[in-house]
Amino acid sequence: MELSITEKKEKGTRPEDAKLAFGTTFTDHMFNMDYSIDKGWHNPRIEPFANLVLSPATMMLHYGQGIFEGLKAYKTETGEIRLYRPRDNFKRLNKSAKGLCIPTIDIDFIMESLKTLLRLEKNWIPETPGTSLYIRPTVIATDPYLGVRASHTYRFFIILSPVGAYYSAGFNPVNIWISKDHVRAVRGGIGEFKTPGNYAASLFASEQAKKEGYAQVLWLDGIERKYIEEVGAMNIFFCINDEVVTPKLNGSILPGITRDSVLTLAKRWGMKVSERKISIDELIKAHGDGTLKEAFGSGTAAVISPVGEMRYGDKVLTIADGKTGPVAMKLNKAITDIQYGKAEDTEAWIEKV
Ligand SMILES: *Cc1c(COP(=O)(O)O)cnc(C)c1O
Repeated sequence: MELSITEKKEKGTRPEDAKLAFGTTFTDHMFNMDYSIDKGWHNPRIEPFANLVLSPATMMLHYGQGIFEGLKAYKTETGEIRLYRPRDNFKRLNKSAKGLCIPTIDIDFIMESLKTLLRLEKNWIPETPGTSLYIRPTVIATDPYLGVRASHTYRFFIILSPVGAYYSAGFNPVNIWISKDHVRAVRGGIGEFKTPGNYAASLFASEQAKKEGYAQVLWLDGIERKYIEEVGAMNIFFCINDEVVTPKLNGSILPGITRDSVLTLAKRWGMKVSERKISIDELIKAHGDGTLKEAFGSGTAAVISPVGEMRYGDKVLTIADGKTGPVAMKLNKAITDIQYGKAEDTEAWIEKV
C-alpha cells in the first residue's frame, strides 16, 4: 500500500505549553484509511484534519462497534521524538479488533504511517517537561445500516493532540470512590477491550462519585462485587507490607501497558510483585492494621497516579497520610525518565521517530 500525503496550506499554531489542557486542541493533519470486504484496508492517506461526513445511519453511532488506543510521543531535551511501547498499543488494538469483529491492521504499516505523520507534525509536539503529543488511533464501523451485525466497512483514523503536564500543581494524590451499586464490565464481556461502550457504562457512577467529591471510580468485579478490578482509565496497584500487588487480568480488566511496565520494573528491582485477586475486605483489613502502605493507578495519561483516599460506603480509607509514597514516586520517575530520554532504555521500550 502506498501512503498518500496532502499537506494543509495554512498551518495552525500550537498553544503555549502552559495553556495546554487534555484533548482539546488537534494538529493540522490526520491519518485516514478505509476498509471494505473487496479491498481490505485501502487508501491510506495523511490529509488535513477535518470533520467526518457520515450517514446518520452509521453503525458505530447506533451499536458502538468501534475501538481505540491512547499513546504519546515525547520530545527529549535534544529534540528527538520518541514513542513508548507503540507496538504494544497496536497489538492491543488488534486484540480489541478481534473482540469486536473488526478487521485487524498491519502493525508495521501503521507504525511507518504514524512516524510519517509525526515527522510532518513535529512542531506540534510540546517541549516543556511533562508535556507530550497524545495519539488517538480509532476504528469505527461505517456501514449505513440499522440492522445489528458486524459492519462490512470501517474507517481507521489517527488524530494528534498536544497535551499539558498531567500534574500542573505537583504530584497530587487523587481520591477515589469504590462503587457498590454499579459495575463496569463482567468476565466474558468487553471489559478487556478498549472500546467506547466501557466508558459509556462508567459514566453514571463517575458522575455520582464527582458529586461526592471523588475524582474517579474504583470498580469491583461484576459478579461477586468483592474483588478490586481497576479505576476509570487506569489499572490499580497496592503496596501491602512489602508486596506490590495488582489484580490479575481476568477478562474484565483492561491490560494496561503502563501496568505491564510497573510489573516489569518492580520485578527487575527485586521487589515482591504479585498479580492476584484482592478483595475489598483485604484492603479494609490491611488499612486497619497499618499494612496498606500505598495505592496508585497506572495509565498513559498520568503514568503513576497516587491515591490519597478511598471511600467505600461509610468507610473512608486514607492512604500514606494522603501523600505520595516512595514506590509510586520511584516508578513514576523511572518510567518518565525512559520516556523523555533521561535514563537508559533498559527494556527496549522506546521507538525513535
Ligand atoms: C487505556 C486504559 C487503561 C490504561 O492502559 P495504558 O495502556 O496503561 O494506558 C486502563 N484501564 C482502562 C479502562 C483503559 O481504557
